[in-house]
Amino acid sequence: MKGFLLVLARRYIAGTERRDAIGAALALNALGLKATIDNLGENARTAVDAECAAKEYISLLDDIKASGADSQVSLKLTHMGLGLSKEIAKRNTEDVVRKARELGNIVRIDMEGSAFTQATIDTFLELREKYTNLGVALQSALKRTVDDARLIASKGGSIRLVKGAYREPPSIAYADKKDVDRSFGLVMKELLATDTRPAIATHDEKLIDEAKRFAVEKGIPKNSFDFEMLLGIKRKRQKRLSDEGYNVRVYVPYGRDWFPYTMRRLRERKENAWFVLRNILD
Ligand SMILES: Cc1cc2nc3c(=O)[nH]c(=O)nc-3n(C[C@H](O)[C@H](O)[C@H](O)COP(=O)(O)OP(=O)(O)OC[C@H]3O[C@@H](n4cnc5c(N)ncnc54)[C@H](O)[C@@H]3O)c2cc1C
Repeated sequence: MKGFLLVLARRYIAGTERRDAIGAALALNALGLKATIDNLGENARTAVDAECAAKEYISLLDDIKASGADSQVSLKLTHMGLGLSKEIAKRNTEDVVRKARELGNIVRIDMEGSAFTQATIDTFLELREKYTNLGVALQSALKRTVDDARLIASKGGSIRLVKGAYREPPSIAYADKKDVDRSFGLVMKELLATDTRPAIATHDEKLIDEAKRFAVEKGIPKNSFDFEMLLGIKRKRQKRLSDEGYNVRVYVPYGRDWFPYTMRRLRERKENAWFVLRNILD
């Protein structure tokens, strides 16, 4: 079963090694697209594992610089040890962010399940006081996000807005896709109107068109925000947006811990779920 899933995973991940991710980023750059490389991993079990994860990011930043790739990096705080303690995660993340600053690069903190939302925002805001080369992701599925986005943007923090890839209880998250999309549209417009360089991270055609329309209406320049999409999804759309003069950044995951990321991607599409099910039953 895992072997079969690995075949599906290949659509969404660059490979298992750093060089695979750098190769994918360079190939995207050749098409006019920028990249954000993510080393797959979450829920570090020991402080040593978390420290190793930070070291991998430091080597990744060196390799990005050496290769000349136009790529930022993105990381998860539980990979940096947030499940063990906030101090461990903050220390490891700071090591990565400091290295990125030395090299003129930028780090984005992914947003994970709601058990980690507050600690992720707190860690981000604490580090942001010292480092401006740091951004964070927020999920429009969470009811709190509109307030979080206002707070972070008021402090100049750059937000990557996503719909959210984690199952959350209806007490804190919108259950209906229409409400998730409405919340995305609302927060997206507020962020586009700031000068915080937001990233509009969606493959949703309606929301992409809404962002474009809003930017034109308000005279917001194309180069003041990014569109972001995931590796392996809507490749032609990525290229078309870039050809239209927008900044398009593609999220490029790599690493051996590909299973949870792949399962989130497969769950997002009914067609994927049926494909998996058919192959398990066959
Ligand atoms: C750059 C980037 C970074 C992200 N970072 C985070 C993060 O930090 N935390 C987090 O919780 N989530 C993150 N996500 C995932 C996000 O929350 C959504 O789960 C994911 O983007 C799908 O939602 P959508 O906005 O594309 O809209 P949807 O309405 O789900 O999809 C719109 C259309 O996109 C296509 N599509 C979407 N997903 C797939 C798929 N898996 N396979 C094939 N086609 C697909 C389909 O055509 C679909 O109709 C990130 C997404 C992006 C693009």
